Amino acid sequence: MLALLAITPLMRYAVARYAAPAEVGSRSGCDACGSPISLDRPWPALGPIARCHGCGTRVGAPSGTVELAAVAALAALLLTRPPAAELAAAAWWLAFAIPLVFVDLAVHRLPDRLTWPAAAGTWLLLGVAALTGAGAAPWWRATAAGLGLALFFAVTTLLLGARGFGIGDAKLAVSAGALLGWYGWSLLVVGLLLALVLSGLVALALLISGRARWSSHLPFGPYLVLGTLGALLLVW
Ligand SMILES: [Zn+2]
Repeated sequence: MLALLAITPLMRYAVARYAAPAEVGSRSGCDACGSPISLDRPWPALGPIARCHGCGTRVGAPSGTVELAAVAALAALLLTRPPAAELAAAAWWLAFAIPLVFVDLAVHRLPDRLTWPAAAGTWLLLGVAALTGAGAAPWWRATAAGLGLALFFAVTTLLLGARGFGIGDAKLAVSAGALLGWYGWSLLVVGLLLALVLSGLVALALLISGRARWSSHLPFGPYLVLGTLGALLLVW
């Protein structure tokens, strides 16, 4: 499980790379001086300090934030100790979900390069959990829940356009829905409600403080991740 901490430079790499506007797609170097951002030379750009080694400009997520999120996620897993195979699925999911939160907050995007591996790995590791004792029933339910939640998000996007969730949210919902559905349909509902309540409260706070308007589009990915983790903590 210390692996989750050891991979924070990888998470930072994902954030720095994909927290770029849609028309750019992905970033390969420092915005200010062009020094490459690479895993060959992770320090200091991909360390907690998050500064370019060339010019000292901040690269990716703010200093310490990715590490703090990883420590919080690790603490949640260590304190609750879910069964090994379910723990592996959750850890895999978090390794992608944490960078996705930072990317979504920065550029309102949930790139396929992160949402699809999150979905595939979570689904396969839940399959391992099914084969090593849990049986097929929760795995089928997880599969149906992931696809169902994704379909629900996709339909709202098609019906409501920019006011709906977003196609990126639908892709993230495949893995989040699978993790929740593994534990039952009611947990899927709890996770979704938690996410909606959290996002509603934050939107309200932003409206009251004048930092957002009714027309503002707020990212939903961070709330989907928090709601999923919150619901999982209830059953672990
Ligand atoms: Zn630089």
